[in-house]
Amino acid sequence: MSEPAIHLSHVRKEYAGGAVAVGDLTLAVASGEVMCLVGPSGCGKSTTLRMVNRLVEPTSGTIHVNGADVMAQDAVQLRRSVGYVIQHVGLFPHRTVSQNASTVPGLLGWDRAQTQARVDELLELVGLPRDVYGDRYPHELSGGERQRVGVARALAVRPPVLLMDEPFGAVDPQGRRRLQKEFLALQRSLGTTVMMVTHDMREAVLLADRIAVLSAGGVLEQIGTPEAVTTKPANAFVRDFLAEFDAA
Ligand code: ADP
Repeated sequence: MSEPAIHLSHVRKEYAGGAVAVGDLTLAVASGEVMCLVGPSGCGKSTTLRMVNRLVEPTSGTIHVNGADVMAQDAVQLRRSVGYVIQHVGLFPHRTVSQNASTVPGLLGWDRAQTQARVDELLELVGLPRDVYGDRYPHELSGGERQRVGVARALAVRPPVLLMDEPFGAVDPQGRRRLQKEFLALQRSLGTTVMMVTHDMREAVLLADRIAVLSAGGVLEQIGTPEAVTTKPANAFVRDFLAEFDAA
């Protein structure tokens, strides 16, 4: 196997006060793969994701992104090079769609023409053509459209790795399915490696190449294709987790 795009090795996170969010997690995401982290609330999914771009500093263990140790990099530079999309997308309310999507290229000092061309391309790809949406402000968009801007913003600098934390969680169910499908098509065409946290097993089954099921303390209970996880749960924990979901 070629070098994984994201590689966590014996990673531990103990928050101040002693809570062990993640005990000893080893996990590799292949280049171009969509890996979904699922598991009950509080099991360490977001902590795991946020250690990859150092929004949370691991207590011990190592994390490599495309072969480079994240701890050896400048945290700010790292965060600009790794895409990050969260549930409430955090658009700047007083900046237009185009300006929001230009944020990271601007921070990286891209020239205007290069930025504009890339933002045009991305807005088109996420279904928000600049001539219609570019000059709107976030409050003039639907929830789903705001998430699209968040995705465009995160992809603007062609990050090799995209981290997503409940990215479509705030979008109504119908809009969410459409966004998920569109996102998958976009991911496939760009080949971006994705690590995504979701509590929505349907979302994981739809989007993931592999699903990682975690239990409290970031314990990896099973990792496998959606088919393997849903048809051959590795143990009682995974079976119960799936059953709860089926009942919902
Ligand atoms: P999940 O994303 O699976 O819901 P989290 O990674 O958010 O789980 O949280 C894992 C555990 O770490 C939980 O017990 C949570 O209360 C704790 N935790 C998360 N963030 C902090 C923090 N900043 N300080 C202390 N404890 C935290």
